Amino acid sequence: MILSSASTFLVVLDADSTLIQDEVIELLADAAGSRELVADVTERAMRGELDFADSLRERVLTLAGLPDTVFAEVGRRIRPTEGVHELIAGIHAAGGVVGVVSGGFHELLDPLAADLGLDHWRANRLEVEGGYLTGRVLGPIIDAEAKAVALREWAAQRRIILSQTIAVGDGANDLRMMDAAGLAVAFNAKPRVKREADLVIENCNLSQVLPLLGLRG
Ligand SMILES: [Mg+2]
Repeated sequence: MILSSASTFLVVLDADSTLIQDEVIELLADAAGSRELVADVTERAMRGELDFADSLRERVLTLAGLPDTVFAEVGRRIRPTEGVHELIAGIHAAGGVVGVVSGGFHELLDPLAADLGLDHWRANRLEVEGGYLTGRVLGPIIDAEAKAVALREWAAQRRIILSQTIAVGDGANDLRMMDAAGLAVAFNAKPRVKREADLVIENCNLSQVLPLLGLRG
């Protein structure tokens, strides 16, 4: 895809195993002692074998009773993916916009979004009562359809046509936003996602997205 220098474009990235190297729900589950169960369910959901929303509720339920101080602890363990700063700087330098839509949680994504200089981001929210996680998700769940909706809404807000949007993701819940986007890039992805993407990046360095956009890496 070659973007004309005058055009504005939108790149929407998935968060877990795309923007960051981790699955945040697994880091939270570490603290709750439920990592083994949660990692197995996450793997199956990302391969597209389980309904994402149901499986997320099931996984979040195992976090009930954790103190909300877990967000700061887990935040320190999150590892941004190699090349993420170069990618965001390159997109911004070319006049583009960067969004992140996550099946994970605002509590962890918000500080990261500020650090990275994201233009848009959207995720689930964990319910907290009296300083402890209840094991419930607040509001509508960010599933595959909600990710596609976010991409379309951000494009509309910025008056960017859908053919000038790029979606980058690794899991089955990224497929609808990849379908909605002008260009679908599988990054560090599950086999099904690689099969359905326009382009596949095997090297886990996000700056590899830049040459695909006709931008210098
Ligand atoms: Mg992911």
